[in-house]
Amino acid sequence: MHNDIQEVLYSEEQIMQKVKELGQQISQDFEGRNLLVICVLKGAFIFMSDLVKSITIPLEVDFMAVSSYGQSTKSSGVVKIIKDLDVPVEGRNVLIVEDIIDSGLTLSYLIDVLERRNALSVSVVTIFDKPIRRTVDLEPDYKGYTLPDAFVVGYGLDYAEKYRNLPYIGILKEAVYAGK
Ligand code: 5GP
Ligand code: MG
Ligand code: MG
Repeated sequence: MHNDIQEVLYSEEQIMQKVKELGQQISQDFEGRNLLVICVLKGAFIFMSDLVKSITIPLEVDFMAVSSYGQSTKSSGVVKIIKDLDVPVEGRNVLIVEDIIDSGLTLSYLIDVLERRNALSVSVVTIFDKPIRRTVDLEPDYKGYTLPDAFVVGYGLDYAEKYRNLPYIGILKEAVYAGK
């Protein structure tokens, strides 16, 4: 285990098992429909690549980057599109792939943007969820693991751009970000 990690919440194996289940469920639910899978960069990039391998129906992928936390561990509530999609979503079944839903602010903004662009449907899958921290009324259509109220890193999630490559999800030691 990395020295800056206080506790591993879910191992690489546990995450992979959950990703497989989510992929199977999504494949069933979207059978026969055109599916556009959207990765919310950067945090969701590892989950995205694992998830699409577990989805067995035809799909397209695209990427979007939004700013939320910057270098802090709290959501600012201000969402900015850093990189937009390459393709129009009009008339398409869109699946937003998220790493974690915390306050829900980022996601509710994104859903709103895609609906205003006339997506046929907008669904959400997140590998991690912190429902206790929600400030907006939002439930993902598909979710992996529910986490306690702690700042976590690994499996794509960062602190100041570090730790994304850890294959597990763990709580970051407070000493790492104390005073920042
Ligand atoms: P929200 O807008 O739901 O508060 O948070 C949106 C984004 O903040 C997430 O997609 C994720 O990138 C980041 N985030 C929220 N909670 C955590 C956390 O515990 N750890 C890390 N590394 N990022 C988080
Ligand atoms: Mg995210
Ligand atoms: Mg981040």
